[in-house]
Amino acid sequence: MGQITLEKVTKAFGEVEVIPPLDLTIEDGEFAVFVGPSGCGKSTLLRLIAGLEDVTSGAIRIDGTDATDVPPAKRGLAMVFQSYALYPHMTVRKNIAFPMRMAGLSQDEQTRRIDQAASVLNLTDYLDRRPGQLSGGQRQRVAIGRAIVREPAAFLFDEPLSNLDAALRVGMRLEISELHKRLATTMIYVTHDQVEAMTMADKIVVLRAGNIEQVGSPLDLYRTPRNLFVAGFIGSPR
Ligand code: ADP
Ligand code: MG
Repeated sequence: MGQITLEKVTKAFGEVEVIPPLDLTIEDGEFAVFVGPSGCGKSTLLRLIAGLEDVTSGAIRIDGTDATDVPPAKRGLAMVFQSYALYPHMTVRKNIAFPMRMAGLSQDEQTRRIDQAASVLNLTDYLDRRPGQLSGGQRQRVAIGRAIVREPAAFLFDEPLSNLDAALRVGMRLEISELHKRLATTMIYVTHDQVEAMTMADKIVVLRAGNIEQVGSPLDLYRTPRNLFVAGFIGSPR
């Protein structure tokens, strides 16, 4: 389960409407990428879905149920923050366990989920280290591990690789795609990087100034960009 629907969602900060009325559906199990230039509203849109911002009007549905007024912790979604959001004084194990401790899961269940996440993410040998003793890629995996153990209906990523160097970014991009195949869980991934969008997405949502310019598969957007903005952004020969 993990279908996410936005119905006529708007968001204004004071007088400024940064998201005009917007309709969008992300299907269960889909890897959706929100792409567009800096300031176009990608993070705002993700935070609205996560419940970290309230919509100004409109509705958000998760698996058909109205979640517009549901607090973030109860939406069943997991936001993956950049790796620097880890707790530096806690071990990897404690960092990954943190959301489960907050949710009051039993010690046995916590251990089971930590072991499973660590195995998927190749972190088994690092569980007793602290974030400062890990590479950038390992730290990013811990941040993902902290999301996995919540067994969310969908993962929400906001430019998770932007503070990694170029070589590491390529590796992590492949790892996240692999993880998506393995878990078959909905993922929404925000980036301003066209290459990430084109290589990772089932569905790309191209945003400009809060508007959806086009929604489609990477191939659709490449072959039939709706306008010059999309063509220029995706790098189509038009
Ligand atoms: P992106 O993630 O695509 O770079 P954002 O969603 O962060 O864009 O921002 C979209 C627009 O909304 C920008 O013009 C930004 O300045 C504005 N904005 C974002 N958050 C706030 C806020 N808390 N208060 C006022 N304006 C905001
Ligand atoms: Mg942003």
